[in-house]
Amino acid sequence: MEQVKTLIIGSGPAGYTAAIYAARADLKPLLYTGMEPGGQLTTTTEVDNFPGYPDGVDGPTMMVELQKQAERFGTEVRIGHIGKVEFSKEAGGIHKAFVDDGTEIEAKSIIISTGATAKYLGLPSEQRLRGGGVSACAVCDGFFYKGQEVAIVGGGDTAAEEATYLANICSKVTMLVRKDEMRASKVMQHRVIDTPNIELRYNTEIDEVIGDMVVEGLRMINNKTGEKEEIAITGLFIAIGHKPNTEVFDGQLDMDDDGYLITKGKSTHTNMPGVFASGDVQDKEYRQAVTAAGTGCMAALDAERYLQSL
Ligand code: NDP
Repeated sequence: MEQVKTLIIGSGPAGYTAAIYAARADLKPLLYTGMEPGGQLTTTTEVDNFPGYPDGVDGPTMMVELQKQAERFGTEVRIGHIGKVEFSKEAGGIHKAFVDDGTEIEAKSIIISTGATAKYLGLPSEQRLRGGGVSACAVCDGFFYKGQEVAIVGGGDTAAEEATYLANICSKVTMLVRKDEMRASKVMQHRVIDTPNIELRYNTEIDEVIGDMVVEGLRMINNKTGEKEEIAITGLFIAIGHKPNTEVFDGQLDMDDDGYLITKGKSTHTNMPGVFASGDVQDKEYRQAVTAAGTGCMAALDAERYLQSL
């Protein structure tokens, strides 16, 4: 059993910012990265809206820099997944975390920054062809469809951003939006509309992904008229939002109906003393790198104050 003052779970902007602050407060944090070191930003290209980068920065580079900054102040970063936790209900109690490799950790405080994961539609044909042309990350997989025709589902900022990204690589992008309007911000909508090789289909959903081993096409259905249409594509990108990574805390931490962790008031305190939550795992409203980093800072300050109060 290893003993630490502060264990941080997750390695996105929230986790690393918490680590920077916790390390500078001499909490000697141990950070477990999870299965996707760097988090969701490692699957994005240009981050243009993080303050302090006038020319933008690409997501993976930013995460490497955040890790270096956290390590510079003494954070120990380990690659690994925590599959089980046992929280103490007592103030000052010791929390236990069990790493999949068998390591057991006792922590006086825990900061949860496990983020959120991409959602899928749940169609059998979509699930069967995951890895065979169905992807939830255009930036990771778009390159494989260079010069080919692809489709993307969703009408939010992610779908709009990924559609324009794909349009740079692929010959044609068909974008399926289930309503008669996009939810994406106006600026992103304009970018989509102004891109000549993106064909927008409103009121359109997927009836079936066609193909045995690899994606060969798509049968679309117009949800107003019921009319079905088939198109030939080789790649299908799903961009319909995210699910918080909170299964491991089920039954121990308070969550909302969508599984997001509930924090108290304007703080990062969860319902367990000494357990704090920051980033997308507790935020379905803003979900930005900068807001995640902000709540990571808050979680470290809350943890420091909690430990001092004991
Ligand atoms: P959102 O939840 O904002 O959008 C999800 C989209 O997927 C909606 O258009 C939704 O449709 C659609 N959708 C959901 N389920 C289905 C389904 N079963 N079939 C078809 N369509 C479906 O998620 P995003 O990932 O786009 O964005 C998340 C957050 O991140 C937002 O706050 C966004 O602003 C932010 N973001 C910001 C970026 C930036 O600033 N650069 C880039 C990317 C994201 P409907 O509208 O009908 O519900």
